[in-house]
Amino acid sequence: MPIRLLSSEVASQIAAGEVIERPASVVKELLENSLDAGARSITITIESAGKKLIEVADDGSGIPSAELELAVSRHATSKLVRADDLFSISTLGFRGEALASIGSVSRLTVTSRVEHEQEGARLQVEGGKPGKLTKVGTTVGTTVRVEDLFYNVPARLKFLKADVTERRAIDSLVTRYALAYPDKRFKLSDGKNVILQTTGDGDRRAILAALYGVDVAKQMLEILSEEEGSRLTGFISPTSLTRSNRKELTFFINGRWVHDTSLSSALLQAYHTLLMVGRYPLTTLFLEIHPAEVDVNVHPAKAEVRFRNQDKVFSFVQRSARKALLAYSPVPNIAPSLWGTAHIVPSETTRQVGIDWDIAHDEQLFAGDDQSPVSSHQSEITTRQPEVQISSFSTIPLLRLIGQIGATYLVAEGPDGLYLVDQHAAHERVLFEKLMAQHVMKNIPSQTLLTPAAVTLPPQAASLLLSQLPVLRHFGFDVEEFGPNTFQVRAIPALFMGSDPSAALRALVEDFEEDETPLQNEIEAKLAARVCKRMAVKAGQALSAEEQRTLLNDLEACDSPRTCPHGRPTMIHLSVDMLERQFGRRGAR
Ligand code: ADP
Ligand code: MG
Repeated sequence: MPIRLLSSEVASQIAAGEVIERPASVVKELLENSLDAGARSITITIESAGKKLIEVADDGSGIPSAELELAVSRHATSKLVRADDLFSISTLGFRGEALASIGSVSRLTVTSRVEHEQEGARLQVEGGKPGKLTKVGTTVGTTVRVEDLFYNVPARLKFLKADVTERRAIDSLVTRYALAYPDKRFKLSDGKNVILQTTGDGDRRAILAALYGVDVAKQMLEILSEEEGSRLTGFISPTSLTRSNRKELTFFINGRWVHDTSLSSALLQAYHTLLMVGRYPLTTLFLEIHPAEVDVNVHPAKAEVRFRNQDKVFSFVQRSARKALLAYSPVPNIAPSLWGTAHIVPSETTRQVGIDWDIAHDEQLFAGDDQSPVSSHQSEITTRQPEVQISSFSTIPLLRLIGQIGATYLVAEGPDGLYLVDQHAAHERVLFEKLMAQHVMKNIPSQTLLTPAAVTLPPQAASLLLSQLPVLRHFGFDVEEFGPNTFQVRAIPALFMGSDPSAALRALVEDFEEDETPLQNEIEAKLAARVCKRMAVKAGQALSAEEQRTLLNDLEACDSPRTCPHGRPTMIHLSVDMLERQFGRRGAR
């Protein structure tokens, strides 16, 4: 085929493909335009999950009628003049492409009026071709109607998911923008029902309830952290509230929803050793940094950014989240299911539980049909902790030891009820924190063994161990190569005196093999966690009263006493309140 210039129509459709992927992308672009126009109130109406209709009406500054035609043409924007402006940009849009793109793949109608004009104007665009401008009487602001999205791009149409899925994407997007802009009034409806409505009173937690339900919203920890002109606000879940995937990690950077893997991993590092393997937190974080520090022009839909100083941002996010987590990690209460009562509370009930939770628009926030995000999200959330006790201390209260049961758990009494402590998990935590503390001080006392222990390993494991010998030495292990695939353990950390050194070494290498190349900066903590797991007292091991007491005291002294280094809980709390209810001493008279 000869080389030809594409017709402008085809070129536009191809370009539109980058920006407009699905109905939710249209909603995102239109929302951003309304926000850029300074709207205080934004009303979104969708039909058939946005496939048939998306209408976004705002009370922003409007578009002068003389500029309306320009607004819908490609590379037309009022938001920047020079490419340099990108680094001081405070608007969400800048590419001048959204309206043109939407217009080339739908039937688009823009109606708008500015303050100083008596009348408004309306312009229709069909398949990229603008019609005639007409005068209309209307209020100040802009209404954009997008009908029959992709009607002229049947291939795209086929890629759209079921209405339920497309609708969920829109719900989730609008809710997150509402959360990012709590001072604006958002209303989302599907023509029949109001799906989401916010008051614009600035209360983020009320909007959070629309996203996750009242019960979960109540438990989320608030973050407010400032440093050298950067500001991080928002919510992160306590360690007891997790998901099996990363989908609930939400970041806004300077008011823009972005998907940034480095921010996600900064956040996950903050949860390091606090969550079970394969579990992820729920977070909605808003980062504000100087526009010059971030390049927003690296992705057609503006969904990704690049930082000038990524390490700095990374560390700021990680430290802020970690601090919030450590300041508050409640002891998991015993799950009601253990008592033969309800399992995870179904979402509808969950939402109604919060009677004391003051949300003016509770019923209107997600008027809950089955497709609303509330119900769909809720079912996936693990609520291991139906009744969190709000306590501002990460530490555990002073506990009075009662004894050991099944040679596995310690029983203790605290100011608010009964505590069951898993001796193995607790000891793991104690050893881990002691070892890491010594490691930070660069002073891990090592104890020489009277008789060195010899360990022979399979070749692969041996070479792995060989590569990690320097790290082991840091931790007070003195291990030497002693012939082919054989090692001699001469000393171990004093902390572990009395345990079997060769078993520990074997266990370490076994775990190494299962790992896909651990990151160097994580390897030390991982190693420490492994050694501690191996060296900790086991379930089924009888402890003397003295040992039990020491363990409890040591646990009380830990920074994160409530979980083992692998994220499992070290204790279960049966509050006085719960005991009273279980025994029918409360409420039933
Ligand atoms: P961009 O947002 O990147 O500038 P768009 O194609 O989204 O590009 O919009 C083009 C222009 O139309 C904007 O720069 C703005 O001047 C105007 N515009 C679009 N939507 C609105 C709105 N809701 N209110 C006021 N002006 C708008
Ligand atoms: Mg725009």
